[in-house]
Amino acid sequence: MTLQKKSLWFTVASSFVLIVIFSVVTIQSFNYFSLNTIREQGRMAAEMLRITLTEQMRAGVIEEREALFKRMRTIPGLVDVRILRGEPVIHQFGPGKSGELAKLEMEKRVLATGQWEETVVELNDTSVYRITIPYVASSGGALNCMQCHDVPEGTINGAVTLGFSLEAMKRSEVFAILPIVGLLLVFALFLGYFLKRLFRPMVRTAENMRVVVRDAEKGDFSGRIETTSSDEIGDIAKQTNSLMDTLEHSMGRISTSIGSLGDLSFKAEGENLLTHTVHVVDEMVGAARFKQAIENDLDLDEIFIRIRRVLSDHFGLRHFSFYRVEDDGKAMTAVFVEGVERKGELWCDQDILINSDACRAKRTASCVSSIDNPHICSRFCGNTKGRGELVHVCIPMMLSGRVGGMLQIVMSDEEFKRHPDIGQTANIYLKEAAPVIEARQLMQSLKETAMRDPMTGLYNRRFLEDYIEVLAANTVRQGTTLGVLMCDVDFFKQVNDNYGHDVGDQVIKGLATLLKEAVRTSDLVIRFGGEEFLVLLPDTDAKGCMELAERIRMGMEAAQFQTPQGPLKKTLSVGIALFPGDNEGFWAAVKYADIALYQAKEQGRNRSLMFDRSMWGEEEQY
Ligand code: GH3
Ligand code: MG
Ligand code: MG
Repeated sequence: MTLQKKSLWFTVASSFVLIVIFSVVTIQSFNYFSLNTIREQGRMAAEMLRITLTEQMRAGVIEEREALFKRMRTIPGLVDVRILRGEPVIHQFGPGKSGELAKLEMEKRVLATGQWEETVVELNDTSVYRITIPYVASSGGALNCMQCHDVPEGTINGAVTLGFSLEAMKRSEVFAILPIVGLLLVFALFLGYFLKRLFRPMVRTAENMRVVVRDAEKGDFSGRIETTSSDEIGDIAKQTNSLMDTLEHSMGRISTSIGSLGDLSFKAEGENLLTHTVHVVDEMVGAARFKQAIENDLDLDEIFIRIRRVLSDHFGLRHFSFYRVEDDGKAMTAVFVEGVERKGELWCDQDILINSDACRAKRTASCVSSIDNPHICSRFCGNTKGRGELVHVCIPMMLSGRVGGMLQIVMSDEEFKRHPDIGQTANIYLKEAAPVIEARQLMQSLKETAMRDPMTGLYNRRFLEDYIEVLAANTVRQGTTLGVLMCDVDFFKQVNDNYGHDVGDQVIKGLATLLKEAVRTSDLVIRFGGEEFLVLLPDTDAKGCMELAERIRMGMEAAQFQTPQGPLKKTLSVGIALFPGDNEGFWAAVKYADIALYQAKEQGRNRSLMFDRSMWGEEEQY
């Protein structure tokens, strides 16, 4: 309720209460006064009647008393006059005329007790005040009752009942109240007018303030309150205006600063600047924390797990995916795909994995959204998955100046309405993550380089030293056997000597290719030294090792290397050992494979030999 209405209600209610109180008090006082007056009138009339009746008795004309009563009833306001005979009078003079015997209970009581009584009754729609006054026999005074009445002193000879109309009194009552009510109404009007004047500046300031605060809640701080008085209300208006000045100035600066942050400045039409700013600051803090966290993450896998968690927990998304663009810039790999039914399923056509340029966001290196343009990307197939109409926002992640990844957010229209700026906000996180991912990828590739042999592309001995602990531990834990094959080209020095180093290199590369093609994807080929290769075969046995060794050896035997001097053929010797042997470490197995290789060379080369304890004897020579 407005202040204006409150003051009006206050005036109306207080005036009403005042009028009621005044009226009730006035009526009560008036009644009290009127009844007292009538009562006195009644007593007086009763006494006058007694005197008149006594005089009539003395004059012997008592029989004409009815004419007296008639004349009395013509007096305005007096509606009833009746004389009542008591028992002693009836006894002495008989019952008298009709109507002179007590009829009413009140009258009987008065004759019995000698105490006067009064009551108000309704007669013919008229209020009548009725009083019954006893006549008590006395010999004193001007009238000596004992002259005619043969009764002792104090006997109740009779009574008189008088009825007075109260209509005249009621009329007087109304005329007495009306001026008071009128006066009170005039007072109420003055009070209302005064209160209105008193409240006017307060009401205006309050209304102004309501508008200003409502606008401020919407992020508009330009409203001001008109100062109309110099009292406390005026002070409130001035202080509010000063607060609005500060807010307008500060928010303007914050808004400009946020505007300079590019993506973060996105503000939906009609969005509250204040809540938008709080939201942006929250996201900035969230993104900064996210960056801190991923900087300390162990590897890329952990970073991607964190990105995934941000998307599902922080943004509350259910359908999304992230792709990594491979180094060649052509292929893409799905790092995670959430919300699809089956593993390996994508929200897009599978061909983007082979040809990343089929992905519009990757190709254009810009955000692709189906929100404004539903069919913008032909590769999106989310709407065929029976989950209703879905929209997608695909955001490229720039790494080293090219698109290195692509985040795809898939959601329903409803979800999008809840997060209209999801693309921009998610991009903040991507941008924070990008340099960290870039650094990690660089580190990884440096590490890769250090662990690979540049000539053959195979892992080198350093990789083996780093990796073998994990591999050996896994082998022991799983209770499997790791096959160790040590391969060495026979009389390789001759190649260098007779054909030159380049041909030697060709032979090494050819053998590397042969080895890579011969093994399973789970096997490892390592360039162990010059023309020595180590092949590690997880989860195998002696037979399997021997079979593979022979296949490699025969492959080498069959291979022909092209040289300027004509085709060249070479052979290979292979030493085989198994890990774990007699509870010995991995390097012992490598040593045994080397011993077996030495034996193979000794026995004439171009052969595969499984290590045997009997070969120990030859160890000194080795
Ligand atoms: P064996 O049958 O006993 O193994 O005789 P071998 O001549 O092959 O002897 P060995 O295995 O000791 O010879 C290794 C040679 O390989 C020595 C080195 O000059 C040569 N070599 C090592 N690395 C490379 C390389 O990267 N390129 C070339 N062209 N030659 C290399
Ligand atoms: Mg060698
Ligand atoms: Mg050799």
